[in-house]
Amino acid sequence: MNEKNKMELKFRALSENESFARATVAGFCLSLNPTIDEITDIKTAVSEAVTNSVVHAYPNKKDGNITITVTLYESMLKIEVVDNGVGIKDIERARQPFYTTRPDDERSGMGFTVMESFMDSMELENLETGGLKVTLTKTIKENKEKLKKLG
Ligand code: ATP
Ligand code: MG
Repeated sequence: MNEKNKMELKFRALSENESFARATVAGFCLSLNPTIDEITDIKTAVSEAVTNSVVHAYPNKKDGNITITVTLYESMLKIEVVDNGVGIKDIERARQPFYTTRPDDERSGMGFTVMESFMDSMELENLETGGLKVTLTKTIKENKEKLKKLG
């Protein structure tokens, strides 16, 4: 698969960075000519992944970072969201709908379920150096109808 474009974004794990991160990723993906629905899916998934790193990854740390790498291919995109926090003990369990370790904190345990359903694939990996890597992919169909409409 031919890589067309790539970018990396690194920022502090703070909740105020969530909207900037999702808007930046969505903006970068525009060259694949996604539909509004596809952009909304991407924004929602990025938002859930970043929020997870903000809320769960750094319970005892104020200066944790989040790194997002976006790679664009001919007709698909890959988004990697990485933190260097505590990681997840039981990944299979964490992927289940309604599983949360923070029920007290208005969490519903639906973040990974949302990411999985809004994207084509979701992989979770505990890094050897500590922390979690979330890899999301989505196919953006080369949309001949879209191009036709544009004239
Ligand atoms: P919601 O996303 O609905 O607000 P939630 O964040 O608890 O609730 P998920 O996003 O599905 O639900 O995550 C499930 C669980 O996985 C979390 O409760 C947390 O224990 C763990 N988790 C998720 N992301 C991370 C992360 N980056 N680092 C450490 N633990 C994480
Ligand atoms: Mg979550």
